[in-house]
Amino acid sequence: MEEMAKVITCKTTECVYNTEHKCHALAISVSSASNPVCQTFVAGEHKSGDPHAIAGVGACHAESCEYNRDRMCYAGSVDVGHKDQEEAACLTFEARVHAEI
Ligand code: SF4
Ligand code: SF4
Repeated sequence: MEEMAKVITCKTTECVYNTEHKCHALAISVSSASNPVCQTFVAGEHKSGDPHAIAGVGACHAESCEYNRDRMCYAGSVDVGHKDQEEAACLTFEARVHAEI
């Protein structure tokens, strides 16, 4: 089994799982919009998650991403943060160049 891609940094500091640009959920889920976003994002003051854990990408529906295979992320690591109107976009998203055969 390949390693789950890690959330190496997240700049969405208003999220309850975020401390010092690290995500402390066990895993996040990323959605399939043209700007894929972290669906696990929850704004709030009460910090949550496991402070010893660094989140992985448990699932990603962005099949148009170069790093996506079978709705899983194989980027190795990802960055999350603000982009355009999104609060928690996957900044590692790369539009797939070649269509799958
Ligand atoms: S926005 Fe997503 S990646 Fe960032 S800390 Fe929150 S749950 Fe983790
Ligand atoms: S890098 Fe691509 S496959 Fe990985 S979480 Fe981001 S959008 Fe999904």
